Amino acid sequence: MSPQRVRFGSGTIAELAAEVERLGGTRVAVLSGPALSDLAHQIGHTLGPLGVAAFGKAAMHTPVEVTERALGLLRGRDVDCLVAVGGGSTIGLSKALAFRTGWPQVVLPTTYAGSEVTPVLGQTEYGQKHTITSPDVLPESVIYDVELTLDLPVELSVTSGMNALAHAVEALYAPQADECTERMATDAIARIAFGLPLIADCPTDPGARAAVLFGACQAGCCLASVGMGLHHKLCHTLGGAFGLPHSQTHTVLLPHVIAYNASAAPDAIGLVGKALGVPDPAGGLFDLIVRLGGPTSLRRLGMAECELRNAAELATSTSYPNPRPPTTDDVYGMLRAAWSGDRPTVPAPADGWERTG
Ligand code: NAD
Repeated sequence: MSPQRVRFGSGTIAELAAEVERLGGTRVAVLSGPALSDLAHQIGHTLGPLGVAAFGKAAMHTPVEVTERALGLLRGRDVDCLVAVGGGSTIGLSKALAFRTGWPQVVLPTTYAGSEVTPVLGQTEYGQKHTITSPDVLPESVIYDVELTLDLPVELSVTSGMNALAHAVEALYAPQADECTERMATDAIARIAFGLPLIADCPTDPGARAAVLFGACQAGCCLASVGMGLHHKLCHTLGGAFGLPHSQTHTVLLPHVIAYNASAAPDAIGLVGKALGVPDPAGGLFDLIVRLGGPTSLRRLGMAECELRNAAELATSTSYPNPRPPTTDDVYGMLRAAWSGDRPTVPAPADGWERTG
């Protein structure tokens, strides 16, 4: 039996209490971040006597001290099941609590981060973000309700969509990639690139929201099934050690990493271009981000210029698979370009992006 049950649709939140009961939950804690505390409160209310606690202070990058604080509070209320409503930060808190307690989780994603379908937990302690991969953190139940995403501001929709796109892009050149990952990743890229401009025009368009949410689920499945490369390493470094915001950092860096890896993974990068529908996968993605009003410079995200070399050294201090081996100097050069907001470019090969192998 699959260790995870996924529901997708509109109004699916109505199935929440039944999912909790299916998992044997009798005393539920509802987790959220500060921005969604009203929604969390409503959810607690609809759970009736099942809802016994709430914790509304989930924070970006899952700081261990926040998890410990929540754990103390929820143990005091004899909680035996978690319901998380929110983005990757709230789902991260839920995973961190489940890892420590074994409590089952029902999660209601409201962004496109994709954490809900991965057995991965990233948590931050002493200024560094560490990753744990364990079946114990995979939520038992995911309820995608498109209606919960209609209020996600356009700016966050764009950056969160780019976060999802990054999972799919890096899956295409991962060493474990196979035909199945390739199809799922290219499909995810196409759905997200189709849906985001429609969301920018009409944020409450349910069809566009459903396309991007489904693409994000597919991209999350890619993240769950293969290892990520330089792009994710850099984003973890800039988030964990320099406090940069997660999805915005993904948005700024992705076109640059695509350009960096293009010569070493031409087939994979060609598939990215085809799925995006552009001849230049790096420049075309950069242009899409600009058109959607997304961020294009690390400087604008608050990164200090004097920290760029430090970040490049940290991101290259351990080895991980990446098509083009990342050297500190090369990564520093790329970070500088991303800091300045330069437009990267990958010229299409003379014979196009058709695969030859
Ligand atoms: P987030 O969860 O911090 O959400 C961003 C902001 O959007 C928050 O202020 C939140 O309150 C608000 N928000 C969320 N949904 C909303 C809605 N529907 N309406 C209005 N506001 C809403 O950010 P995120 O980008 O979703 O997640 C980032 C975190 O997730 C990072 O810590 C990252 O490392 C982690 N992550 C983990 C994985 C994994 O597999 N482990 C994958 C992706 C991301």
